[in-house]
Amino acid sequence: PATLGVMGGGQLGRMFVQAAQAMGYATAVLDPDADSPAGLISHHHIRSAYDDTEGLARLAALSDAITTEFENVPAPALAALAAQRPVAPGAACVAIAQDRAAEKAHFMRCAADGSGVRPAPYAAIDTPEQLAAVADDLLPGILKTARLGYDGKGQARVKDRAELAAAWDRLGRVPCVLEKLMPLRAECSVIVARGANGDCVSFPVQKNTHHDGILAVTEVHEGAIEPALARRAQAATIAIAQQLGYVGVLCVEYFLVDDGQGGLDLVVNEMAPRPHNSGHYTQNACDVSQFEAQVRAVAGLPLRPPVQHSPAIMLNLLGDLWFAPGREAAVTPPWDALLALPGTHLHLYGKASARPGRKMGHLNITGPTVAAVRDTATKALALLGLPPL
Ligand code: ATP
Ligand code: MG
Ligand code: MG
Repeated sequence: PATLGVMGGGQLGRMFVQAAQAMGYATAVLDPDADSPAGLISHHHIRSAYDDTEGLARLAALSDAITTEFENVPAPALAALAAQRPVAPGAACVAIAQDRAAEKAHFMRCAADGSGVRPAPYAAIDTPEQLAAVADDLLPGILKTARLGYDGKGQARVKDRAELAAAWDRLGRVPCVLEKLMPLRAECSVIVARGANGDCVSFPVQKNTHHDGILAVTEVHEGAIEPALARRAQAATIAIAQQLGYVGVLCVEYFLVDDGQGGLDLVVNEMAPRPHNSGHYTQNACDVSQFEAQVRAVAGLPLRPPVQHSPAIMLNLLGDLWFAPGREAAVTPPWDALLALPGTHLHLYGKASARPGRKMGHLNITGPTVAAVRDTATKALALLGLPPL
């Protein structure tokens, strides 16, 4: 009946397109890459730069509503599209999520309004004067570029002022944020979907494990996150979305830190104005996936609180798996053995070539009990040669 457009053709766009098509929509993808994962399976693939006027005009002409899968899509491009078609999330929300300083300022505003969760102590560093004026208690810290960082890129751990100055030089003296290094005990994230009418629903809280700065494992089941902390994280995420008047799917990442009294406290880290890698388990463990929720929010369809019907563990499948030690050429990972395990769901993104660190797919694991899911995950990790849970 209608066409949904998406800015960006990566794996998140591909899974949005799959969800949209399952619900009867045609799709249009704008991505410069000829074999982008989403472009390959979309009804329309507009091969243009994200800021190309002609490409944007074609996307608007083809689409009844437009979303984004890629957080660094130029905000002015979204604003230009929004003059012609409903766009969710809007340019102003995406612009905040693109800039760590603006993002943290937003989290501070939400905390002042009662979200219940604050970011780590931080300072914005745009000038040498701001660098010199950094408070001692922000060290040791992590210096992060304000823009364009992902998978831990554009970051440096610094323990004193000399290291801080050297790191800022190395990062090109671009605008940065210095964050205090927090005593992390664990990390979690929350995905919410909010409609234009203000309805906002939350998915269960995801517990995330990173390796080398890249998400490796997400666990969503009883016992993964203490329920009181999970409820606080969900409430804070809804507050963060409501404050922005956000429309679409939003993911907010949190740290679980020592509260100094033997317990855990929550600290908000960053947000992604789109579905998130940590939300992929929803495809097989919830009655509505994060991508269907995005379709519903963007198309103006009703949102219902998602129900998780199975404990879940998601394993990321990075390009490294294609390169066995000592082998020159890419080898196919042992899909047959993985799929012979109970409750495994293989998702591959259709990328032409594997590279170390490249997200190639994920394995969702569901089952009747937490023990069953953990058992399958343990076996799958061993088959893949990855570290155990
Ligand atoms: P993503 O790929 O999730 O967008 P990113 O490059 O934007 O990652 P962050 O999420 O800011 O980076 O940080 C990456 C990881 O570094 C975090 O998940 C956490 O493990 C660690 N980290 C970041 N900030 C802090 C901090 N202030 N204290 C302790 N650890 C931190
Ligand atoms: Mg990030
Ligand atoms: Mg992050």
